[in-house]
Amino acid sequence: TTFNDLGLAEPVLKAVKSEGYDTPTPIQAQAIPIMIAGRDVLGIAQTGTGKTAAFVLPQLDRLARNRRKPRPKTAAVLILAPTRELASQIADSIRTYGRALKPSIAIVIGGAKPGPQIRTLANGVDFIVATPGRLLDHLESGAVTLQDTGSVVLDEADQMLDLGFMPTIRKILGRVPSQRQTLLFSATMPKQIRSLANDFLSDPAEVSV
Ligand code: AMP
Repeated sequence: TTFNDLGLAEPVLKAVKSEGYDTPTPIQAQAIPIMIAGRDVLGIAQTGTGKTAAFVLPQLDRLARNRRKPRPKTAAVLILAPTRELASQIADSIRTYGRALKPSIAIVIGGAKPGPQIRTLANGVDFIVATPGRLLDHLESGAVTLQDTGSVVLDEADQMLDLGFMPTIRKILGRVPSQRQTLLFSATMPKQIRSLANDFLSDPAEVSV
């Protein structure tokens, strides 16, 4: 499989090539076409497998194709990650792979001042990258809504489980419209993650590398 075979839009392909990536990693080759087709995905993959690009590239592909539609009033894509560090790395990847599209990104993490986070969100963004606790605070205070969110990614779900975020994640997912795509990535699949997937993913394709 080559990147050309995956069905990605031209600006996204260009960014991948300028990163010097020759071939998609196994998780990318398996998951990207399924995600572009709009299906939910349950991905079992460790860090280092290229999973970040596997979920970021299809979201950028959609952005490239919807460029002329009005910008979302809230956020088109929500990505939840266990730590501030991982959230920041994901935001960096979105900027890198999205160079040609200049996506707007709000990073919503604990330890940062809430004021600037809220102002960025008020204008509507293409991506929110968040840790669960801080995002739920903003949702409960009414500073943020997810009423336009069409895609949700849960990255390192088993880490979020270990950090005690499961009740928070369930509350957040309950506030996203049910007409959405949901992608869940985890290195391991304990039964709480299975049950999260059962409750919030719709007929997911399972991808394991
Ligand atoms: P991740 O598993 O998302 O943490 O990615 C691990 C590393 O692999 C990152 O440094 C990426 O830049 C790199 N990477 C992702 N996809 C590819 C690819 N198709 N070819 C070469 N390197 C890649």
